[in-house]
Amino acid sequence: MELDIIEMYPYILNIYGDNGNYQILKKRCEWRGIKVNGYKFKKDEKLDISIEDADIILMGGASDKAQTILSEDLMKERDLLYNYIENNGVLLAICGSYQMFGNRYVDLNKENIRCLEIFDMESVSSENRLIGNIILENNIGLNPKSLVGFENHGGYTYHEYGNLGNVKYGSGNNGEDFKEGLVYKNFIGSYLHGPILSKNPHLADKIIFDALKRKYNINSLKSLDDSIELKAHNFIVDNLLNE
Ligand code: GLN
Repeated sequence: MELDIIEMYPYILNIYGDNGNYQILKKRCEWRGIKVNGYKFKKDEKLDISIEDADIILMGGASDKAQTILSEDLMKERDLLYNYIENNGVLLAICGSYQMFGNRYVDLNKENIRCLEIFDMESVSSENRLIGNIILENNIGLNPKSLVGFENHGGYTYHEYGNLGNVKYGSGNNGEDFKEGLVYKNFIGSYLHGPILSKNPHLADKIIFDALKRKYNINSLKSLDDSIELKAHNFIVDNLLNE
């Protein structure tokens, strides 16, 4: 088996090392003998694969300025991304990328950054940035239930879709409704950096499983020894939730 993974704008959407998510998925696939073909989607460059043929799409975080720079180019992909998501395409969008799937993102200068208008949600930036460690109790059936990471965003996001998890420590989408992220079909949006998949191997494997299920109709995924990743994961949970 093999998976085609597209990183979109990896040289722009990579604040806080979110490119690590690709490395983690690639390694966890290779440990299972699953070949990964990686593609870097760049502004004004033709890719050897169309978005609609991807098995996984990854998008990282960005500064407000990067989101402004990227917006016009990203809008050109709106219909392909919409159809990919509706066709159960697996997509992980972190922080600034997550925001870009809404109707708009209002930056600190009260400027509207044009977004993809794929989800009925909006983000509004505040001087009171939401920064720090974050722990969720996930809503997507993962075991362990916790998801850990760190967040650093000025944008406060509001929506009525399913959320990746409920905030147990930290702020989440807006620091008010204790919701974090957005899940819809195989789309996962989240504010968790870390990168998110580094200390949440169970989330990484969900993404791999969903992509293989969609492409090859598999029913199970061989387990890996996640003792080191989960030791780091549990250190954060034990130290922050019991502080
Ligand atoms: N620029 C956005 C914000 O500040 C996203 C930041 C990020 O991707 N970490 O909310």
